Amino acid sequence: MAVGKRRFLSSKEKTRRESAKQLMENINGNRTEILKVDKHIADKPVIQIDQDDKDITWKDGRRLVELSLLAEALKACVGCGSNLKLHNTINEQRFGFASILNISCEQCGYLTAIPTSKRHFTGQRGPGAFDINTKMALGMTDCGSGHRQLNKLFATIGVPGISANALKTREREVNKPLVETAKNSCLEAIEEETSLTLDDTPNKGLAIKYDMCWQKRGSGRSYDSPSGVGTAIGSMTGKILDYGICGKNCRICLYAEKINIEARPHNCKKNWNQSSKAMEAFTGAKLMQNIEDLSHQPVTILIMDDDAATMSKAREVLGHELEKWSDIGHSKKSVGKALYNLQNKHKILTTRIIQYFQKCFSYAVTQNKDNALGLKDALQAIVEHVFGNHVKCGNWCKAGNVNYTYKSLPHGKPFENESLYVDLSIIFKSVANHSEKLAPGGSTRDVESTNNIYASKAHKRTCYSTSESLENRIAAAAAQKNIGYNYMEDVFVKAHLSPSKILEVNCQKLSRERKRQLKFEGDPEIKKRKLLMKKEKRSNTESLEKKEGVTYSSNMSFTSVTCDASIPVIKYRPDLSEVASCENIVVFDLETSSLALDCDILQIAASHLHKTSQYSTYIQPGKSISTQASAVTGLTSKGGVLFYNGDPVQVLSQEAAFQNFTSWLEQHKPCVLAAHNCKTFDAWQINVQSVKGVKRFCSYILTHK
Ligand SMILES: [Zn+2]
Ligand SMILES: [Zn+2]
Ligand SMILES: [Zn+2]
Repeated sequence: MAVGKRRFLSSKEKTRRESAKQLMENINGNRTEILKVDKHIADKPVIQIDQDDKDITWKDGRRLVELSLLAEALKACVGCGSNLKLHNTINEQRFGFASILNISCEQCGYLTAIPTSKRHFTGQRGPGAFDINTKMALGMTDCGSGHRQLNKLFATIGVPGISANALKTREREVNKPLVETAKNSCLEAIEEETSLTLDDTPNKGLAIKYDMCWQKRGSGRSYDSPSGVGTAIGSMTGKILDYGICGKNCRICLYAEKINIEARPHNCKKNWNQSSKAMEAFTGAKLMQNIEDLSHQPVTILIMDDDAATMSKAREVLGHELEKWSDIGHSKKSVGKALYNLQNKHKILTTRIIQYFQKCFSYAVTQNKDNALGLKDALQAIVEHVFGNHVKCGNWCKAGNVNYTYKSLPHGKPFENESLYVDLSIIFKSVANHSEKLAPGGSTRDVESTNNIYASKAHKRTCYSTSESLENRIAAAAAQKNIGYNYMEDVFVKAHLSPSKILEVNCQKLSRERKRQLKFEGDPEIKKRKLLMKKEKRSNTESLEKKEGVTYSSNMSFTSVTCDASIPVIKYRPDLSEVASCENIVVFDLETSSLALDCDILQIAASHLHKTSQYSTYIQPGKSISTQASAVTGLTSKGGVLFYNGDPVQVLSQEAAFQNFTSWLEQHKPCVLAAHNCKTFDAWQINVQSVKGVKRFCSYILTHK
């Protein structure tokens, strides 16, 4: 460290430097770096500070300070050895989240520079980076946030932030330690997987689960993610054996291209020139080959979804046969997708019924594990069973019992529609043809959970793939999956950062929590309760949706002409008192032009519950009738004429209709009016009509309790 040329030093200066060195050793333990005690050196900031931050003094806001370090440094002035006091701080130099406080001595006036964080060397020249800034870059990667979010968080609690450039530099610094930690954990996982496989099934080779995760959301029509991560997971250990990142762009190369210069030497992240869809097969084959090379065992089984051409590519690269097992989760989803496509044609296929079919599919697979022929029959029996033909059903079918009803089918009866039978048979036959791939019951759920960890550290809404950032985040996720939350301790060692007790304690807490969560998820009782809650929630939603009418469907404002408002909540509830006993109960029903608040009443129908007296009137419509209402009531209007099922009907004016109704009601005085949905719809409608001028009717109801 260039403290100065070796010239003659005064004895005072000599002691000062000696004591400074001593102090530094006390603070930093065995680490050999020197605390900058000289204010000339402290004048040269290693981190750019934003112009906007210039006005912030040491008295503003909060700082992240290592208390033990500060306490130690305040013990003795470098010049005279007397105690330093924090309130004698002259100024503060900030380097990201770290600061150097220049504190003057009350006794000798010497200015001592005291840092708030330890430092470490990054292999370059210079005074070394502050631990806190490097740790901040690591923390940001681990939490999956970016520098904006980081600065927002710290600004809220009053801590001055760090510039984007400075943070990027620290991010580059931790790239190597992170990737090393992740790749080392993969190597260990390969070793473990190999030895477990050899113990369990010698001479059989490795079984690998593989899937790809893209950093941009896309549908089957447009996959153009700038990057993708392929992950191979061992089926025995459930650990990541290898992962590979494909990137289509590099920020530095792009910039150099734009201003037409040669790019500076950098850790280039561009390694892909083809389409995003081709990433999956290529990366898969590459990973398999790498795993074979490292484990000296052949990869013989590949468990994956049926989306990509990975199989043929892997066979080509590995040069030997490869068995494929389909992922049950994906297959279940594709069965569901095929059924949803039939929804428009067959209205009877509600979401609940499709979920029932998916459940049957899962049962068939789990009950016929490793039995391809049995699975084939079971899958075809599902359709037969639903249509009331139980010849092929296994012993799970209870249709032989007397009074058997289908719990999951409408009205408990089997389906009868011929064309539905044909369509369903086609779907389940095509699934049954793949029963050999399905029978082993392979699942790539591990890979999907890993993809979720990736997404938690590299959100899909932000593009990290043009720099080291994505590699850092993926490496952090992989290390977390393989090692656990305490992977960060390894990274700290590799990055020469001071160990942290708080990190250790927090990792223990997190792993304890995770263990409890896993135990909780595996508990069959809790699973049962969850299912029950799900069922309740679904039926609640269904009844609410029925009440509200169509409120959401894709492109509904393009396609549907009228939007029905929901059944309105009653703002004014008629003051009805309890009826002890009443002989006259009149049931009434209103047909309206829509469910909207200001709809027209089209028909009033009423009937005495015990006598044969009945009443019915059609009313002249004022507004157009919504198609949904027409479908229910059979009432349509054209040119002011009201039609019932296509035949014109006689109508009264609204006022006359209500007057007639009230005089009909007179004969049954006193009476109770009852209606289906009365509280939420009909009573409210009558209330609205009263506002429109039919006061007499309303007062009639209110007084004839
Ligand atoms: Zn002093
Ligand atoms: Zn590049
Ligand atoms: Zn059956």
